[in-house]
Amino acid sequence: MAQSLYIHIPFCLKRCAYCDFVSGIFDPLKADEYINALKKEISALPRETEFSTLFIGGGTPTTLSAHTLKDLIYYMFSHLTFNGSYEATIETNPGTVDFEKLHALRLAGINRISIGIQSFHDDELAFLGRIHTAEEAEHAVSLAHDAGFENIGIDLIYGIPGQNIVSWRKTLENAVRLKPTHISAYELTVEKGTMLYEYLKNPPLSPFSKGGFIESPLSRGNIGVCSPLWQRGVRGDFAMKNISKADNLKLLDEEKIIEMYEYTIDYLTSKNYIHYEISNFALPDYFCKHNLNYWDRGEYYGAGLGAHSFIDHKRFYNFGDLEFYINALTENKSPVQKIEQITNDKAIAETFFLGLRKTGGINLKTVSESYKQDLVSMYQNEIKELEEAGLVEYNSKSFNLRLTRKGLLLSNEVFTKFI
Ligand code: SF4
Repeated sequence: MAQSLYIHIPFCLKRCAYCDFVSGIFDPLKADEYINALKKEISALPRETEFSTLFIGGGTPTTLSAHTLKDLIYYMFSHLTFNGSYEATIETNPGTVDFEKLHALRLAGINRISIGIQSFHDDELAFLGRIHTAEEAEHAVSLAHDAGFENIGIDLIYGIPGQNIVSWRKTLENAVRLKPTHISAYELTVEKGTMLYEYLKNPPLSPFSKGGFIESPLSRGNIGVCSPLWQRGVRGDFAMKNISKADNLKLLDEEKIIEMYEYTIDYLTSKNYIHYEISNFALPDYFCKHNLNYWDRGEYYGAGLGAHSFIDHKRFYNFGDLEFYINALTENKSPVQKIEQITNDKAIAETFFLGLRKTGGINLKTVSESYKQDLVSMYQNEIKELEEAGLVEYNSKSFNLRLTRKGLLLSNEVFTKFI
């Protein structure tokens, strides 16, 4: 039985330079049409399923008004069943929230907030094309505390051109000072079709001005422009594309990236955050249950533009085009564009590359039993090779397979062995 529900809100105030998610510029009229369509999709979800996690992601869900968000959340809670200890997360960005909106979300039953901060340096934020300053980011965290959120996650990005270990350290220190329960630290990657990709393919002679301010590929700005740049990719998309980077365009030297990542692990663990997934750290009892379900290959429903569901060994992909999505639901048709049957081989590959993302790794005995195949024998050569390279550790008594510290740095090399 599915235990997780993902809801996609594909609107943002402005397009970030690196963004590959299904999102476009907020247009209030389109948003109303979209929410009506989304409610129709939600109303068709099975009422008997008891959900333990809800994740409202985007886009930036908090581009919607407090009234619209409250109405949508009440709609979900009245049409669906959630267990008594559910985790309900909403993603937000500084610059789209005030106390009233956050308080309304908390009162409506949202008990976890994930704030996209990315950096505590204004020049880095400008390069990324973010809509907010470092000060506004800090303010958003304090508003979330004031509004009654106890479970607060912060997203950060390292590997930004112009960034160095000193500025990254300061970002991490600021993050910890704000006492979030969860910190995600992602390496900046360049996806084809993004503005960052185009910018790096044809970089200006000097991307940095003398004062150290970095010109954003988005510096032309497009706040309020109602011609959305609809893009691929949706949060919760844990498909295989995630393990390869487009064209391998380099942003910073590999050594600098490694230094930042290693520092992140050492620093955050020294501050009592548990490193539980390649890019995720949390205080005890605050691991993100919704994402753990993805990494454990649990079933989930997804509703909204470009959302995926994974039910009964099949993956369902919704339309990624806004008009198609709205029209399908308005005409009482299914918004599903494609259904993929997940073969046993693919399921096994996913078990490895999703499960090994968790620092605790996977239990090969349990996995072998669930697939009725002896995976230890099947992959003995790969595991031996990876052990010799120092990338994984396999404990033949407990059947636990996990990445080593070196393996965390070179996880894609490990994952490709199992595909
Ligand atoms: S990165 Fe996030 S905030 Fe920026 S455009 Fe993409 S979805 Fe919106």
